[in-house]
Amino acid sequence: LQQEVESTFTKKTETADGVRVEVHLNAGLSADTSIAINRGVDGVGLYRTEVPFLMQRSFPSEDDQVNQYRAILDCYPKQPVVMRTLDIGGDKPLPYLKIEEDNPFLGWRGIRFTLDHPDIFLIQVRAMLRASIGRDNLSILLPMISGLSELLEAKALIERAFSEVTEIADQQGETLKLPRLGIMVEVPSVLYQLDTIAPHIDFLSVGTNDLTQYLLAVDRNNARVAEVYDTFHPSVLAVLKQILDNSKRLKLPVSVCGEFAGDPIGAVLLVGMGYRQLSMNTRSVAKIKYVLRHIPSEELESHTATVQQLSLARDIRNASEAFLEQYN
Ligand code: PEP
Ligand code: MG
Repeated sequence: LQQEVESTFTKKTETADGVRVEVHLNAGLSADTSIAINRGVDGVGLYRTEVPFLMQRSFPSEDDQVNQYRAILDCYPKQPVVMRTLDIGGDKPLPYLKIEEDNPFLGWRGIRFTLDHPDIFLIQVRAMLRASIGRDNLSILLPMISGLSELLEAKALIERAFSEVTEIADQQGETLKLPRLGIMVEVPSVLYQLDTIAPHIDFLSVGTNDLTQYLLAVDRNNARVAEVYDTFHPSVLAVLKQILDNSKRLKLPVSVCGEFAGDPIGAVLLVGMGYRQLSMNTRSVAKIKYVLRHIPSEELESHTATVQQLSLARDIRNASEAFLEQYN
């Protein structure tokens, strides 16, 4: 079976009856620019830019960042690469920047931190744009957006960086394309502002790790409450369905990039709900392709509709495991 799973790696992802599902990579390490990894995916759905920041002793310079970002863009020249702006704080403190807070997960993290440090944000966005000169596969993703005002503030900075880098591109006789812009859907308040936000963005990316944490008010890394942290909670699943329905109504492309998308049961439920774009770690790619290629879409849909009627996470998980067993 292992061999069969492995051989699925380079095949395109579709359900047993041919419904196409895009599988993208969650990247961040330099190994993710290796050809062996990228041949099996439809692009990079989440490039966590904080990872290279975390591995250095001080803030990387703009030029260093340009080199890093260009390497990943050039590794997927015909595919979209979604680069997320710095998402530090919470579980990802930078060793060279001490932030002491009582509630780091509710504190200075993601977009909140970078909007308070526009210099850091501008350098990073300029580096992304400079890396994308003469290319057309860059998308920019904003983490931890809680409402319209943060988005507008970030967008104004991106526009400023864009006009600066356009001048550089002009001098080089090259073109700079405006990147697609998206937000992470991971802070619950944003769910109620999607209509207002939609005209300002090009796509949504659902972060089930933080969405679960903030919806259930439970620390994603605290072993004591690990049982409460459950993406199979019926309320989390209801929200995931609601996001999909809204994205369809607003005609906004949506993908899921949290760990749930790389879990076979999670992927089955997401595709059964109607999601057609998943982003996951390298180690999940072959497994998820294998599972989806063995199940007809109708069965994914009817299974998902059935478990969405259940009121206990435990029952949803058990029913889903039994469902998957049939295809093993
Ligand atoms: C998420 O929150 O689901 C996500 C993909 O981002 P991160 O795990 O980096 O917070
Ligand atoms: Mg997150």
